[in-house]
Amino acid sequence: MEMDNSVGNLKYFSKHFIPATSCNLCGSTKRTEWAVSDPVIAYTCDNCGLVYHDPQMTREGRDAFYASGYFELQNNPADALARDKMYEVEIAYLEKYVQGGKILDVGCGGGFLLNKFGPSWEKHGIEFDHTSAEHARSVLKLDVKDGEVNEATYPDGFFDVIVMRGVIEHMAEPKKMVEHMLPWLKQGGLLYITSTPNIESLCAELYREKWKLFTADHQIHFAKRTIEALGKELGMELLDSAYFYLETPYANEIEDCRKIIKDAELIATGKRDEVGSSPAFYGNMLSMILKKNR
Ligand SMILES: [Zn+2]
Repeated sequence: MEMDNSVGNLKYFSKHFIPATSCNLCGSTKRTEWAVSDPVIAYTCDNCGLVYHDPQMTREGRDAFYASGYFELQNNPADALARDKMYEVEIAYLEKYVQGGKILDVGCGGGFLLNKFGPSWEKHGIEFDHTSAEHARSVLKLDVKDGEVNEATYPDGFFDVIVMRGVIEHMAEPKKMVEHMLPWLKQGGLLYITSTPNIESLCAELYREKWKLFTADHQIHFAKRTIEALGKELGMELLDSAYFYLETPYANEIEDCRKIIKDAELIATGKRDEVGSSPAFYGNMLSMILKKNR
């Protein structure tokens, strides 16, 4: 099979499917179809706005999926320069609020983001993919644990910052995961959720199943209001939020606008089949800083 991230590839993992019939955030079973992309239907929770895939994959399924070449896919050397620039933008944004201390990168992959943090930071990571975790340890010499967040332990109040970059949308049970790791954060510490796809963006709304971020590995899609609700429930307040685009290496604002207008016309005239994947654009990616209050 050709390893890519398209939803269609999930059909190879169908023996690992489990139905997802209620919202992971609020528990409601009331829902409205958001997009159909065989073998998955995405639903919006009528109560809170979370968008989730049905079916989802079991842990074994996710392990099998990520073991099938995901590390290479995520770490293409050709993309390294743009990725590094993106990390700089995201770190500068966090450092407006805190300039150093103990930081935990949850789902740190090969350690590339952690590695970009300066010497004022004591860096730690967790990664469930062994190939990636091993890269972070042996190549980048980072302190990275193998395994699932829900099985990891750290002392209470240990970290000044916990960062999740492009991670929360991969989780089967994001609320449970955040609840499990929140004690590790000291009171007044920051939870930095960054580069998570924003399901309430213009491109998501227009392109739906053709939205570039509607992929096999994203089972749950958040927006500012759903992350804020999650934080509030767990005793966190929203400190700041941003949609990085113009300051990123992915911005081509004139071309991107033209493409979106052209595609919107195709969709409006019933020619959805002629529409390709969505471009990078303002609103696609969401970054939020939440402060732990209790
Ligand atoms: Zn809900």
